[in-house]
Amino acid sequence: MILDAERRTVVERAPDLAALTPGRTGNLSVRDGTDGDAFAITPTGVPYDAFDAADVPVVGVDGERRTGDMAPSSEVPMHAAIYRRANVGAIAHAHSPWSTAMAVAREPLAPIHYMIVAVGDRVPVAEYAPYGTDELAENVVRAMDDAGSTACFLENHGLVVTADDAATALENAVHVESIAALYLRTRAAGLEPRTLTDEQLATVREQFESYGQG
Ligand code: 13P
Ligand code: ZN
Repeated sequence: MILDAERRTVVERAPDLAALTPGRTGNLSVRDGTDGDAFAITPTGVPYDAFDAADVPVVGVDGERRTGDMAPSSEVPMHAAIYRRANVGAIAHAHSPWSTAMAVAREPLAPIHYMIVAVGDRVPVAEYAPYGTDELAENVVRAMDDAGSTACFLENHGLVVTADDAATALENAVHVESIAALYLRTRAAGLEPRTLTDEQLATVREQFESYGQG
């Protein structure tokens, strides 16, 4: 089976996506390496516990469907456009509530917590276009490029996060979601969220080089 490992990863990680996003919304793709010419992606409109690896569609970075028993996500243009532009190995898209609240307010996420460095200095907002369109794909690629961020809110829609692998893309989506929640809760308390400086963020990046079990 072509892209066997990537298709299995999509199945294995689908529950993590389901935990983030309502119903059948959102999608997850895993590329054949960080510069491969094809990716496995969740099927469109199917509950996240209702498909297996053979069902998982494989699509070229040109956006052309190659194989898989089910039809691919409607957001293939967005995933393909990001892969053509960046050397990343996975993309997670969710309508997770706190991030989507930011997307509805059309409000970028400033560095109010040090974990923002997982995705960049901030999370930008991509201009609205209908889901599944080339226009949305272009808006997302441009917003992420301009901000130098691996995450992006989609106006009145949701969140996209890219990473080297699916586990990291999903973990970083959880980080963005939790920082968006902190931002909105602080605002809801009538308080003003304060931001970290560039220097403070640079220090966090240095610390992260030796963070964890080594
Ligand atoms: P798919 O089920 O086609 O992946 O669509 C869900 C979605 O979130 C579209 O933006
Ligand atoms: Zn969506």
